[in-house]
Amino acid sequence: MTDLKDATRAAPDWQDDVRQGVRHVRDLDRLPLSPAERAAAQEAASRHKVRAPKAYLDLIDWNDPADPIRAQVIPSPDELDEAEGELGDPIADHEFSPVPRLTHRHADRVLLFPTYQCAVYCRFCFRKESLTSIGRGYTREALEPALAYIADHPEIREVILTGGDPLSLPDKALAEIVARVEAIAHVRLLRIHTRVPVALPSRITSGLVAALRGRLMVTVVTHFNHAREITPATEVACRTMRQAGFVLLNQSVLLKGVNDSVEVLEELCRELMYRLGVKPYYLHHGDLARGMAHRRTTIAQGQALVEALRARLSGICNPVYVLDLPEGGGKVPLGPCPIEGRDGESWRIRGLDGKVRDYREIVGE
Ligand SMILES: *Cc1c(COP(=O)(O)O)cnc(C)c1O
Ligand code: SF4
Repeated sequence: MTDLKDATRAAPDWQDDVRQGVRHVRDLDRLPLSPAERAAAQEAASRHKVRAPKAYLDLIDWNDPADPIRAQVIPSPDELDEAEGELGDPIADHEFSPVPRLTHRHADRVLLFPTYQCAVYCRFCFRKESLTSIGRGYTREALEPALAYIADHPEIREVILTGGDPLSLPDKALAEIVARVEAIAHVRLLRIHTRVPVALPSRITSGLVAALRGRLMVTVVTHFNHAREITPATEVACRTMRQAGFVLLNQSVLLKGVNDSVEVLEELCRELMYRLGVKPYYLHHGDLARGMAHRRTTIAQGQALVEALRARLSGICNPVYVLDLPEGGGKVPLGPCPIEGRDGESWRIRGLDGKVRDYREIVGE
């Protein structure tokens, strides 16, 4: 195994990482894909772009057709099967969008979309149809209405840069966006939702970190789905961000064939916290993005997994299992629910050992 110092020295410049990766569907010709994958690629790519930096592709074991990294970025013929009831905008971003490039569903926080482009395109992305139909990058002008809206709403305390991937932007654009958000006095915290630390860790440079740093508390929410994504390069990237004082959290999506086993999730959550210093925040139940039935688990399977995790992992290593409800119902925890029954102040509650115990509430007047 390479040690960290070697990894830093050997790390290619991030632009090489992008250039040598897959940038267009035609770049897939260079990869050892199956005939079925090749046949599907063109059609799948017209629905959701194909892109992955070299650093991410290098994690794939091409001898394994079910490789969990490959499953996340290489188009599959299964994507073309769209099931009845799947949704183009699974969590109603558009319905709660009062001005372009902004979603406001919870009073104290907004999503701000500085770009609809990403460094890597994940096949399971719930926002893939917005990325395809809107698809545009950052301009100063495009964010004007959203920033004016935030300035007009003093109840907004958190601005969440998402997209698209905000960290796919140049340092200069990021510094400009951050300065404009910081100028709004009632904003307290800047959050960045990104897959760049996972898929293009070499992009997390001192210049990028400096662009984000300023008056606001900065929280970076990464998106690791498998322990194999945790490498010496991601370790360097996360250390750079932690040393800048950023709070690091992770959200994962529960994906059949990628991370739907206790062992995989256990290792992922533990390595995130112990090796990267990234707190597992959410484990998302697979939403109703079109063409993703082959990657979804049932809710009951998800509940069994998180119940097992709860017993195996420390409190800080445990994520909260949530479903982001359609129609803007928000992220609701799906359990595990340990309550078996109740009779007045007597509750029957299942312990981590699986045994059900009685718990009687005693509350003073
Ligand atoms: C997910 C989401 C947030 C952030 O929710 P947290 O529970 O605070 O992480 C905010 N706004 C919208 C519209 C969201 O979908
Ligand atoms: S990086 Fe995020 S927004 Fe972009 S394709 Fe992946 S999941 Fe979707």
